[in-house]
Amino acid sequence: MPTPSVYPQSVRAVSPALSPPVPLAPPPGPPSDPPPGHPISPPGEPFQGPPKAPLGIYAKSRPETLQDVGLFDPDTGEVLSPETKQAIDPVSVRLGRYVLQSQARRILGRDHRLFHCLHTRQRDRPSVDVLHAASSDSCYYSGLQTCASVWACPVCAARISERRREELRQAVNLWKAQGGSVLLLTLTNAHTRADALTSLLEGQQAALHRFFATRAGITAMSSLGRVGHVRAWEVTTGRLRANSNGWHPHFHILLFLRSSPSDPLPVWEDQLFGVWLRACELAGLPLPNRAHGVSLQDGSQASAYIAKLGLEEDRVSASSWSIEHEMTKGHTKRARNGETPFDLIRACLAGDDPQAARLFREFASAFKGKRQLVYSRGLRDLLGLDALLTDDELAARPDDDAYLLASITPEQWRAVKRADLRGELLEVARSGGPDAVAVFLLSLMSKPQC
Ligand SMILES: [Zn+2]
Repeated sequence: MPTPSVYPQSVRAVSPALSPPVPLAPPPGPPSDPPPGHPISPPGEPFQGPPKAPLGIYAKSRPETLQDVGLFDPDTGEVLSPETKQAIDPVSVRLGRYVLQSQARRILGRDHRLFHCLHTRQRDRPSVDVLHAASSDSCYYSGLQTCASVWACPVCAARISERRREELRQAVNLWKAQGGSVLLLTLTNAHTRADALTSLLEGQQAALHRFFATRAGITAMSSLGRVGHVRAWEVTTGRLRANSNGWHPHFHILLFLRSSPSDPLPVWEDQLFGVWLRACELAGLPLPNRAHGVSLQDGSQASAYIAKLGLEEDRVSASSWSIEHEMTKGHTKRARNGETPFDLIRACLAGDDPQAARLFREFASAFKGKRQLVYSRGLRDLLGLDALLTDDELAARPDDDAYLLASITPEQWRAVKRADLRGELLEVARSGGPDAVAVFLLSLMSKPQC
């Protein structure tokens, strides 16, 4: 097996100072392992040979050097300060997800699947692999266990949500191109600090079923020209407010209509409020009030709507929001009027906050097993979408253009975990390729263990 030093010359052209002082020993692995820099073959199929043109793509799409990224001093192998890392975006966003995940791991403990996510090696894999996806210019791990928790795990959530969002974006565009319209309906009900999240969710789920199933609901949706919907669930907590009303779960529902409604949206909003009020009553939920219980908005106004709620962690401005972001990344947003679940993790990072930790555990337990997006029956067929993949399938699916960039031995991986530098290693790999990974690992391995 060739050493990683054969990997792209273009990497060194981009980062001339990154030639490692010492070559990396080839990682162990079966003879059939593809060499670094070559495409990943599907499981069970032989290695397909070298990529057609990965190096040029790689060099063009990645203007930064490691020094630009600010993570790593190639002369000394030292990892730079967190302050340096935080100054850079989107690198700091990707690093931040691993920082949040480490904190979530501490909060949730060993009994949660997240504890092993991107920490523990898969039993049948001799090494931990770093893959590079050229199209997104990002690196990720293979050969590690993943939790596929779209609710609790910041790393898995980003990966899964991004894929769901892209599919939803295409579905909305396709429907609009065919003359249809899409509205954004938001539903919630009254709640207090005394309400447990689990009971609120159970009540809301029952109320939503009635919202679409009662005679009044069926009539309203038929009049609107609804052909289907996609619903997402979102929750924030108002614990920091003077008069906290506790958990605030709510639905965002994309209504797919045959055409734009003839009546103004406030007229429809009034009618739908009556339907939702009755549905909450039948479900035994505290009743919604007219001011906050129902909101009906044109899809094109979603950006403004989202800006009221706050910016999502990996978006630099409200202008980059779209309706699909709102639907798939609700729990990762940084709400201005309340805290998202990931804000609770941030609160724990900022200092000892047992209340935030308790609430995050309650959130993770209440949402465990719930689907992030639910398409109404028949809508996916109508939109020509493939069968819905599970969170596990989405989390495990490699990118189509992924290449094996470096392999890490179990001993090296233990050193990475000990130093809590999993995110940093990926950015080093992305910016400098296998040579930089070699220097990074050598630096880690040479440090005395405390
Ligand atoms: Zn995970």
